[in-house]
Amino acid sequence: MQGLSFLKWVIIKGVITVNNKDQILGLLGKNIEFSLSPKIHNYLSNVMGLNYHYFIFDIEDSTDLKKAIEAMRVLKIQGVNVTIPYKKDVMQNLDRIDQNVKKLGAVNTIKNEEGQLVGYNTDVDGFDELAYNKGVNFAHKTVSLIGAGGAAAAVVYYLAKTDLKKLYLINRTIGRAEQLKTDFLQDIAQIEVIELSGNRLSTAIDHSDIIINSTPLGLQDRYEQISPIKADLIKEKHTVIDLVYKPRITKLLQDSKDQDARIISGIEMLIYQAVKSFEIWTGALVEYDLVKELINNL
Ligand code: NAP
Repeated sequence: MQGLSFLKWVIIKGVITVNNKDQILGLLGKNIEFSLSPKIHNYLSNVMGLNYHYFIFDIEDSTDLKKAIEAMRVLKIQGVNVTIPYKKDVMQNLDRIDQNVKKLGAVNTIKNEEGQLVGYNTDVDGFDELAYNKGVNFAHKTVSLIGAGGAAAAVVYYLAKTDLKKLYLINRTIGRAEQLKTDFLQDIAQIEVIELSGNRLSTAIDHSDIIINSTPLGLQDRYEQISPIKADLIKEKHTVIDLVYKPRITKLLQDSKDQDARIISGIEMLIYQAVKSFEIWTGALVEYDLVKELINNL
């Protein structure tokens, strides 16, 4: 059972008990059963006394994505997050997209505005908050960003607003990094594309102040105990940010810690991008204490 019929079944059978006041939220993606998003959004809704209920909508077959989006309109689903691998493809099914999204080319949040589906990207807000709260200053710094997918695009979008000295875009697939470079050529003083398995990698890391992982390498159950770079490339001078948040200390962060480098987990980015999505859907403002509680207790 897939798409619209599945959602109807879920609601009719009372698996979700909805009344007129209840609002449905969810996550569209593939292999997302372990996502922390339901915990975050259902917690926020409960604590704030709202009637939102967040569900996982795992879409195994990409050809069902369009049906799932249509289901949002028909079933009046108030909003969804979108994750791997649909952040880009989903854009063509929306009525409008936010200004940020045009440049980024990836949507992670959709709001149903009375039948009009509007796409946003809150990953940029999430990274912005992480950098601000952890006091990471990018001005005049050199950054090695590993990965060139949707999350990397959000980071580059943020970095373009800082006075960065140089960005190394490091990826397994060179073409994808080249495209990201082209998209932001006007916004960042210097961008150099580096192949992840190439011989320029060590020079890039050596010249960098900040290393950011935006690949899934290190992720629990799939790539655990795998780091995108060798441990001996990391030095004490580095600040290392891993967007992978499960486990909180990934192999990359553990290796960095062992070298006495500064480490930052992606958990804050996750929480803040979720909070921003929640605010977009509900119009409510989430208090900072609540955000802190989530970061400490998830
Ligand atoms: P994506 O668009 O699919 O991009 C994935 C990137 O990782 C691509 O650059 C890909 O390289 C690279 N990659 C994938 N598997 C790899 C492997 N085995 N070896 C080397 N490189 C590999 O995904 P995304 O949306 O950017 O998300 C990437 C990661 O960031 C995910 O783990 C996600 O959980 C995390 N993330 C965290 C947050 C947060 O709030 N903390 C937010 C967004 C994403 P190719 O181009 O060569 O395929």
